[in-house]
This record gives sequence, C-alpha cells and structure tokens, in this order.
Amino acid sequence: MSNDRLEETPESGKIDTSKLSSCSFEVGAIRPPSEGGSHSLLIRATRNCSWNRCGFCYGMVYNREKFQLRTVDEIKADIDAVKMVSDELSAISWKLGYGGAVNAEVGHAVMGSDPSLNGNHCFVMVFNWLYFGGKTAFLQDANTLIMPTGQLLEVVGGLKTASDDIPFLAK
Ligand code: SF4
Repeated sequence: MSNDRLEETPESGKIDTSKLSSCSFEVGAIRPPSEGGSHSLLIRATRNCSWNRCGFCYGMVYNREKFQLRTVDEIKADIDAVKMVSDELSAISWKLGYGGAVNAEVGHAVMGSDPSLNGNHCFVMVFNWLYFGGKTAFLQDANTLIMPTGQLLEVVGGLKTASDDIPFLAK
C-alpha cells in the first residue's frame, strides 16, 4: 500500500488526522456479549428490533423505536468509511515503519496528534477492530437476517471485498 497520502503538519511534525477525524457512520446501541472479546466490527445493517416482544426486553434497548431496513447503498457507505480509516491507519503505520500493522505505537502517534479522536466512537471501534486482528464483524441491530436475502448478500459481499483489501489482516 502506498504511504504517500500521509501528510505531516510541517510546523509541528504531527500527523495530519483530518481524514480520520471525519470518520462518521451509524452504529447501533448494542454490542452483543459474544462480539466483545473479539472486538468485532459493528456494521448497522438494520435499525432496532423487528420483534419487540421478549418479556425481559420489549425492545427497550432500542427505545422501542420502529424497526427499519437500511438501503444497501447506505450500508456500503458505512463500509467505505471503515475502509477509509483502515487505509489511513495503514498509511500512518507504513510512514512510522511498522509495515502497515495497526499497533499500539500507531495508536499513540495518532492519538498524540489528535486527542479528540479518543471521543470519535467510529474511529475507536475501527482502530480496536484492526488492533485485535480484524477477525469478525457483526451486522446490527437485533434481526438483520430479516433483510431480503439478495440485499444481505450484497452487504456481506461488500464487507468481504473491503476486508480482503486490507493487506495485513489474516484471511
Ligand atoms: S431486542 Fe432482542 S431481546 Fe429485545 S425484544 Fe428484540 S429480539 Fe427480544
């Protein structure tokens, strides 16, 4: 991967994090316990719960808001945002001599240049996903399998294509 896109602010030597700080995409409210240890990437393919009738929940975790499908284009735009962060972090890693790996040193360099990234939950999630090997992804919210099969396959295909293009991830 080319690293020539990475700019340093001349007067300070800090990394230009403007692209990273622009990272923004939808993330649902719930990370299932099974998706925590692996730091799964969360992609919000649908919104809220299509059922809302479990006796211990009644969809309260989603404020009982109405279930919604998202369009494939919307979801793919979010995947593109994930890919942008991955590419930027890889470029920074190359620049720092870490060969594209997203490691603690890359994290320190990026956060040191722009501490506000700590509060960007999209950036933090993608960073953690990559830091822990980018192994798994979870399609939020409560019942994404309700999507029309063709659309679901398009989303999964888009996600696979994006992750296949991240060189340092184990395939
Ligand atoms: S979010 Fe899950 S637990 Fe809650 S009502 Fe929907 S299906 Fe049941």
